[in-house]
Amino acid sequence: MSPITLFPLFLFLVGLIAFSFYWKNSKGSRGEKWVTRRLERLDSSKYLVINDLLLRYGANSTQIDHVVVSVYGIFVIETKYYKGWVYGGAESEYWTQNIYGKKFQLRNPVLQNQGHIRAIKRSLKLREGIPVYSIVAFSRQASLGVNPTLPVMYWRQVVPYIRQYDQPRLSETEVRETYDTLLSAGAADDVARKQHVQNVRQNQRRRDLAVSQGRCPRCGGELVLRNGQYGRFYGCSNYPRCRYTLHD
Ligand SMILES: [Zn+2]
Repeated sequence: MSPITLFPLFLFLVGLIAFSFYWKNSKGSRGEKWVTRRLERLDSSKYLVINDLLLRYGANSTQIDHVVVSVYGIFVIETKYYKGWVYGGAESEYWTQNIYGKKFQLRNPVLQNQGHIRAIKRSLKLREGIPVYSIVAFSRQASLGVNPTLPVMYWRQVVPYIRQYDQPRLSETEVRETYDTLLSAGAADDVARKQHVQNVRQNQRRRDLAVSQGRCPRCGGELVLRNGQYGRFYGCSNYPRCRYTLHD
């Protein structure tokens, strides 16, 4: 082939590479946008939605994809964009993504969202009896292999899931106050956001370093190889005091 006929092919390839970079980097926020759009289907006079909330407490901060405040309860939503098989135990620190036989780890999103709920409870000082529901929502490209009793679902199931709660548990005033408190507690400024990203990376590095040295990233105990129902895995030597596990 002459260089002239190859040129369009070359352009096409460059375009493809540029696009795939863009696609990869926009993954997280694209998932959040999809769920944001779905949450707009909720009656806005009954459900108040906060997207991309950054909560600070002391030197720490946590980023929460969506919070829905209603008289029926508070819903805290973590969105995930993953392909392939995604599976893991309710208690394990990490879940596995298996994509065409290649395995990757992700932090257990159920535990992750429980952390978000703790942060919300801390900033709200809620009275007893106000329910806070956890929702972990995956894109439909993922095949989920997790315990069906866990609040893990697909994006399209989020709105029906929220709507099934129809017993009023908060007063209208409590809904308004909760919404306002969360909005003002959310640090929207870029400085806080950058600091947050840095903290997350640092924590991840600390965890990775501990694991690479055979130490438990939670308590510093020793990681020991154990045989479980689903194969071999590393567990913390301080079990049952520490329930950290690492699956390959
Ligand atoms: Zn441990």
